[in-house]
Amino acid sequence: MTPVEVVTCDVLVIGAGAAGLCAALAGREAGARVVVTSVTAPHTGSATAITQVAGAFVAAAAATTDPKDTVEAHLEDTLEAGRGLAEPALARHRVSRIVPFLGQLEACGVRFTRADHGGWLQFHSPGHRYPRTLAFGPAKGVSLARVLAEAATRAGAASLSSLVVTDLVKAEGRVAGAVGWDLGRQRAIAISAGAVVLASGGAGLCYPRTGLPRPTAGAGFGLAVAAGCTLIDMELVQWYPTALAEPGEPAHLVHYDTLLRQGAVFRTASGEDVLASVTRDPERGITRDEMARYIGRARMARPLADSRIFIDVSDCTSLDEHPVLRASPYAHLLRERSGQPGRGLWVSPAAHYYLGGVAVDASGATDVPGLFAAGEVAGGCFGANRLEGNALTDCVVGGDEAGRAAVAWARRHDRAPLHADAWRDSANPLEALHARRSGFRVAEAIEELQGALEAGAGLVRTATGLAGARARLARVRADCERLAAPDGQDVLHLAAFPHVLRAAEAIVLSSVAREESRGAFIRADFPDERAEGADAHVAIRLVDDRLEVDRRPVGGLASGVAAGT
Ligand SMILES: Cc1cc2nc3c(=O)[nH]c(=O)nc-3n(C[C@H](O)[C@H](O)[C@H](O)COP(=O)(O)OP(=O)(O)OC[C@H]3O[C@@H](n4cnc5c(N)ncnc54)[C@H](O)[C@@H]3O)c2cc1C
Repeated sequence: MTPVEVVTCDVLVIGAGAAGLCAALAGREAGARVVVTSVTAPHTGSATAITQVAGAFVAAAAATTDPKDTVEAHLEDTLEAGRGLAEPALARHRVSRIVPFLGQLEACGVRFTRADHGGWLQFHSPGHRYPRTLAFGPAKGVSLARVLAEAATRAGAASLSSLVVTDLVKAEGRVAGAVGWDLGRQRAIAISAGAVVLASGGAGLCYPRTGLPRPTAGAGFGLAVAAGCTLIDMELVQWYPTALAEPGEPAHLVHYDTLLRQGAVFRTASGEDVLASVTRDPERGITRDEMARYIGRARMARPLADSRIFIDVSDCTSLDEHPVLRASPYAHLLRERSGQPGRGLWVSPAAHYYLGGVAVDASGATDVPGLFAAGEVAGGCFGANRLEGNALTDCVVGGDEAGRAAVAWARRHDRAPLHADAWRDSANPLEALHARRSGFRVAEAIEELQGALEAGAGLVRTATGLAGARARLARVRADCERLAAPDGQDVLHLAAFPHVLRAAEAIVLSSVAREESRGAFIRADFPDERAEGADAHVAIRLVDDRLEVDRRPVGGLASGVAAGT
């Protein structure tokens, strides 16, 4: 039996997106030995590396553009968008700390676009009362991820890339490290840590139509719940309402707000104007959840119609002059079709951002002592809808805070005592799994999981559809015992798949529990908001290897998860 390689550090950061890299930088600044893991190279394969929406970065209230803007105004907009489910203390922490933090990011090498007056160029995003969104260059997300990864390396953080974490290991009730599969060397590896920051992003594997990268599969949600964390509001998946749905083209995010302002008309397949009965406030724009709801309603009313939406640009003649549209990856289609009778772009909603996730307080502490979470894997900051630009605000501030809190925790507590055999116990099944030469192909399992969620837990949900999804996922779970990647296909996801399946199960269970429609969440059988829907988060825990649903009061997370501190 080969001994397991054990890497030792003070703080293990799982994930090298904006949240993980900011946690790593904070950890190094506090003098800790930090290891950062990622499934691919640190500056690729993460949502951070593909941020594309006009390069929108952070919503930075109290910066330069409009003197009337304040942190309070930013907070109000953020909470209003969340439809009562955003945790006020968490949201306040993130928006009030972002402005001073931007200078630190610039010092790392992040280049925010400057306006003629020398200050940051800030522009309007739907739902924000003031222009707060920043652009950064030169290559949007790739530049951001690369700059942060290089800064973390310069600061002395060790990077373990091509590593899929498959288990969080605990001893005496607290986290002791993790075990994962080294994709390059094809062997298990263990990381012993004083504290762990989970920053594994959203779930790129749960839905077939998504802008999230596949390496950011969603295993983090499953890893956390298996370790004893609570997941909250997993039903709240934000849909980007208008992802390109043209044959042969990637699902680029189409700037619906800009196109609307330029006179485009959004039509159903049978030609009706989706927004005909909507009173529009040009100042505020239409937020993503609202747009998704209008599209959802149009689709609900016509269940047999083509589910795509047509952006009619027949009457738009100067789209090429708009800087955002001209720089977009679908500019060639606009050039070819705008001003032509009956021409336009086909789009449809795509899973974009996970609003729910691991329950944390403002420091990122979870229910499990020594385990912290930051970025998209953590839930509660934005409630039932997130405004554009706010995700990265949460990632950088939350990541920084979690990194510091993890170092402080590791210094205050003795390392969890763990016998060498414990690592072996976690590593053995991994080695056996990767040696399996036949069974239930992981590629097939992923297809079935995605099919189940798309059919039953998509943009518009019903009790019947959710029951169907649950039954399909149960069959996948039963077959998980035989999981294999004999042809080498999707080997990246082999060991993480059961955790991704947990995330999918949590989405379905939570959706069943929320009997209302709110923000990004639409139930056709419960089309309205219910007053009591904003009182509590839908909470999921793993009890005796089964997910159980509970409630956690909104506003109670800040004090309720302090076990980790
Ligand atoms: C197409 C697109 C455009 C967007 N545009 C914007 C925008 O303009 N502005 C904005 O604010 N937000 C935007 N968002 C949202 C925002 O990009 C994400 O919410 C944010 O980048 C998430 O950062 P993160 O650090 O939490 O996770 P990610 O950046 O996704 O990083 C996750 C990391 O975890 C690692 N990982 C995952 N699982 C494991 C595992 N099992 N073991 C080891 N490592 C693991 C991955 O390899 C990766 O390094 C966009 C999202 C998408 C999909």
